Amino acid sequence: MEYYSASMLKLFNDCKFAFKCRYIDKIEGEKNKYLIFGTEFHDNIKDLTSTDENIINMVKSLRNAIKDRKIIEYEKKYFVLIDGYNFIGYVDAECKDHVLEFKSSNRKWYERDVLNNIIQSTMYQKMTGKKLEYYVVNKKTFWIQKITLEYNKKNWEKILNTIDRINTTKKYNKTNSYKCMYCSYKKICQK
Ligand code: SF4
Repeated sequence: MEYYSASMLKLFNDCKFAFKCRYIDKIEGEKNKYLIFGTEFHDNIKDLTSTDENIINMVKSLRNAIKDRKIIEYEKKYFVLIDGYNFIGYVDAECKDHVLEFKSSNRKWYERDVLNNIIQSTMYQKMTGKKLEYYVVNKKTFWIQKITLEYNKKNWEKILNTIDRINTTKKYNKTNSYKCMYCSYKKICQK
């Protein structure tokens, strides 16, 4: 691989077949309603132009929660060589000592949700050298949950291990999990 991203590694861990569709066969996945909603939410954080009342309320609540943070840049691209590999990532917002990532959710985040995002959070911390803060915006109540994470070396070692497996795997098996529900390659997979 020319470079590695958090979404690439996560997809590899979630489903080898979907990983092959996206990163080896280069097939554009279908955009489902969850992806469309998430994209619109993110697109509106800086310039609020949406006509969707829910999105407007979520963004207003988020902006209020981060109003005291001195944001240096939104959607900052990082492309960094670390341990012999190129890593790419777009952090939602960056302050002097922290990177901020914005998420939307139907419910409160628990430890398993943080673990589900551990590749992204570890990679972004390693790439930027900063602590990471998740701001999780509730889609119904607009409540904001803030979670601060610190870098953990063991998680970085797991990332390097995943890269090794990406580079040596020969089998791209299908998985069977709740994640199939959100999968962009469901139709190809079911053929
Ligand atoms: S539907 Fe499930 S098994 Fe099929 S590609 Fe998607 S995640 Fe993998």
